[in-house]
Amino acid sequence: MTPRGCLICAPLVARSVSQMLTQMQEAKANGADVVESRVDHIPGFNAAKDLPVLLNARTLPMIVTARAKWEGGVYEGEETERQKLLELAVKLGADYVDVELQVARDFIATLKQNKIVSETKVIVSNHNWEVTPSLHEIGELVARIQSTGADIVKFATTATNITDVSRVLHLLAHSQVPTIALVMGPKGVIGRILCPKYGGYLTFGALSKGQESAPGQPTLADLSHVYRVGQLGRDTKVFGIIGNPVYHSKSPILHNAAFEKCSIDAVYVPFLVEDLAEFLSVYSVPDFGGFSVTIPHKEAALKCCDEVDPIAKAIGAVNTIVRKSDGKLVGYNTDCDGALTAIEDGLHESGLASEGASSPLKDKLFVVIGAGGAGKALAFGARERGARVVIANRNFGRAKELADAVGGEAIQLEKLSEFRPETGMVLANSTSIGMQPDINQSPLPKDALSAYCLVFDAVYTPRTTKLLREAAEVGAAVVSGVEMFIRQAYGQFELFTGQPAPKELMREIVMASY
Ligand code: NAP
Repeated sequence: MTPRGCLICAPLVARSVSQMLTQMQEAKANGADVVESRVDHIPGFNAAKDLPVLLNARTLPMIVTARAKWEGGVYEGEETERQKLLELAVKLGADYVDVELQVARDFIATLKQNKIVSETKVIVSNHNWEVTPSLHEIGELVARIQSTGADIVKFATTATNITDVSRVLHLLAHSQVPTIALVMGPKGVIGRILCPKYGGYLTFGALSKGQESAPGQPTLADLSHVYRVGQLGRDTKVFGIIGNPVYHSKSPILHNAAFEKCSIDAVYVPFLVEDLAEFLSVYSVPDFGGFSVTIPHKEAALKCCDEVDPIAKAIGAVNTIVRKSDGKLVGYNTDCDGALTAIEDGLHESGLASEGASSPLKDKLFVVIGAGGAGKALAFGARERGARVVIANRNFGRAKELADAVGGEAIQLEKLSEFRPETGMVLANSTSIGMQPDINQSPLPKDALSAYCLVFDAVYTPRTTKLLREAAEVGAAVVSGVEMFIRQAYGQFELFTGQPAPKELMREIVMASY
């Protein structure tokens, strides 16, 4: 990894000076390099009395900000008083003061006129709470900020689309002066994580969830421990999960820890994407090396790739995209192997595998509930391993279509509880029935489960679903969707890096999250 360059700054939005000092200690303990004292949040803040207390007690470099209401802050008092407060902060040797572009020229002129000399760096900032302007407009804005005599340029825009972030990162990469650039809102989160790679001066991390000073701000702990932003540099490769919604995903915790363990200079981020084709066309540089794909983009991903692995093509869904050295995007499906190897190992471990067979699933009757993305992966994987496949789905037409594609049989979902042509069958649920919060639901009544020697559930929240609990009670072997999740992630890591996955660590991380 390249040496750290970008600082992590904790914005402190306390309601009193003493509370702000306590927060500063917390920020330091959680990995902050700098704090921003948002004194506009402190009711009745008395600059002459309170500023020396704050500055003298600081244990980290401090930005003093008294954000005016007209710039999105809380300060409602006289503008002259506000600027005097900032002037005093400079006199007292604050490490930084933040002043808004609208008044920066006058403020800096006043410092010069009054011959106020100190080491304080003046951050000149501008906030756009509605959009992220064009690259040309942002370029002009930065030039205007620079022309005020700013030591550090700061601009914050609002993301209406994740593609907005690419313009800001582009500008950051080409900036000749220290620059803080961030894109606010849930669609701008990657900008806050990736700015170190593009030379950003600092990025903001909230003390904890609920203590954000602007929308979309990650926590300090996430920035320092999950994304390791202090270690990101120009050469860091970017990977991530494309989905909508996406912020609930455990994949960033898993893949970032795996990169760290294997000393790979890479970061894995959540991409909140609405239009996959547009996203891929904008983030098309080689540094964006690969993507996990989740709901609702797995089918669209098939069409967006230049090449698709035959299994993924047969399934009709891509959950992994890798950018090859020639820039081509190649699609894979690691859900299939992830689920099927978990089931095969479950059969082996329970003594249900006959010796010598190429797969313990060979010739077994394999019943899949569901015909969506996961259902297709299970059906094709089972067929590949020589199983006889039966599909039951709420929408019978889709069951029939999938059964035809794998040379299997379709049955009505309502008839599944009476379906017991033989014993020793394998059942795989690929619907979301039983998933949190509906944990008291199951796709099949308990008394129908005794026909199965093994029951697998693709649902992985909770780890043990009602279906699995009841299957175990009637004596079947059970395999949780957690196994599929872990294994599909192994497959993705290996496709992304060309290296073996640190399996033990990845398993430990997933298990610890339950
Ligand atoms: P999908 O493509 O949207 O398919 C959903 C399937 O579930 C369809 O067959 C749908 O039937 C059926 N379904 C949904 N609600 C139902 C209900 N109330 N009653 C009966 N059938 C219902 O979704 P997917 O990507 O396949 O994901 C399905 C499940 O697998 C999810 O719980 C997901 O979390 C899980 N999954 C787990 C992993 C893992 O790593 N463990 C990986 C991928 C997916 P219709 O066709 O009738 O609509």
